[in-house]
Amino acid sequence: MIAQRPILATADALPDARGRFGDFGGCFVPETLYTPLEELRRAYAEAREDPAFAEALRSELRDFAGRPTPLIPADRLSRELGGARIYLKREDLLHTGAHKINNVLGQLLLARRMGKTRIIAETGAGQHGIATAAGCARFGMECVVYMGAEDMRRQALNVYRMRLCGAEVRGVEAGQRTLKDAVNEAMRDWVATSRHTHYILGSALGAHPFPMMVRDFHKVIGEETREQILAAEGRLPDEMAACVGGGSNAIGFFYDFLAEASVRLVGVEAGGRGRGSGEHAARFEGGRPGVLQGCKTWILQDPDGQIEATHSVSAGLDYAAVGPEHAYYQSTGRISYAAASDEECLDAFQRLSRSEGIIPALETAHGLAYALRRAPELSPDQILCVNLSGRGDKDVQEAARVLEGEVPGATVPTDHG
Ligand SMILES: *Cc1c(COP(=O)(O)O)cnc(C)c1O
Repeated sequence: MIAQRPILATADALPDARGRFGDFGGCFVPETLYTPLEELRRAYAEAREDPAFAEALRSELRDFAGRPTPLIPADRLSRELGGARIYLKREDLLHTGAHKINNVLGQLLLARRMGKTRIIAETGAGQHGIATAAGCARFGMECVVYMGAEDMRRQALNVYRMRLCGAEVRGVEAGQRTLKDAVNEAMRDWVATSRHTHYILGSALGAHPFPMMVRDFHKVIGEETREQILAAEGRLPDEMAACVGGGSNAIGFFYDFLAEASVRLVGVEAGGRGRGSGEHAARFEGGRPGVLQGCKTWILQDPDGQIEATHSVSAGLDYAAVGPEHAYYQSTGRISYAAASDEECLDAFQRLSRSEGIIPALETAHGLAYALRRAPELSPDQILCVNLSGRGDKDVQEAARVLEGEVPGATVPTDHG
């Protein structure tokens, strides 16, 4: 068992007292949400100082989620590419199939500590929904998951998994009927029910304290990676890459390395089908700062500030805003951002399966697509670590549909909003 450091942040760590990461973040919510957020902020401030809380989380992460996850060299892939040695951090091995469970277990322990008996969550691809449903079953909590009706159709298997775990899945018919609309419904529920209900937000997004709290619950990914790469190589990696939807797996992977100037950090967004409006979810390439669902950050919006439609072959990266901490580190230049297209993602999806016997999630495959481009530019004495945020079982059907040409246009996916 790798020793985990307490989830205390150092005194100078962001965000500031008002939840701001430099110009970004904050708490832009209607008055009715201010009270539950303030209650949450106070409860979390106490919990993060409590060694018993840290110990309970450590034990849940070990026994229920399956931590620590391995860091393995991708020998065949690295040889084929002929450049940097690639290491893979295996978050795909966690219970329910992705990193999401780290955050869910942290927030469930916090909810229990606050005396809440009911949990609500939003979900896009369903990975956060299934992690929440499974955790609620374990903790004996009532669970309601909001999900866009369009996403329910695309991710029918995950809907069934959630229901098996006893969760109620409520379809949302508003808007594009995807993740953004599900978040709105969850916030509406929370306004009315916060006395007994906790809202488990699924990424490093939203109003303070969510971005900070979600980051804290995921930073174990990077802490393990540091110990594992030091044990394997006796030094830190030269570069680390992870896909960025809201940005939780990436910030969790990077956080422990932010102060290491020698380690290059790269977040990879969904480049979709192209640079046109509605064709991608690359916020740093096509967006500008604004406010959405509780925080100030980079957002895909039209000249009037209306939120633009997004597209990605991976539902989990298909969102118009990026987490505010990423907006901050983009502004300081500490983290670099790249984009990978649907086509590059599908190539990486197949490449890792064939070379290493690991079928990655389509979200994850964006980070890998970047690594496929980048590794040949580096030398064999350099190390590139990629966070494998989740496994691809959920995506096999969609990949087959696209790759086997069951729809016209082969590797160009049809628009499913
Ligand atoms: C949800 C998800 C993502 C995107 O969310 P982040 O908050 O950006 O990490 C990435 N990979 C997988 C496997 C996911 O399930």
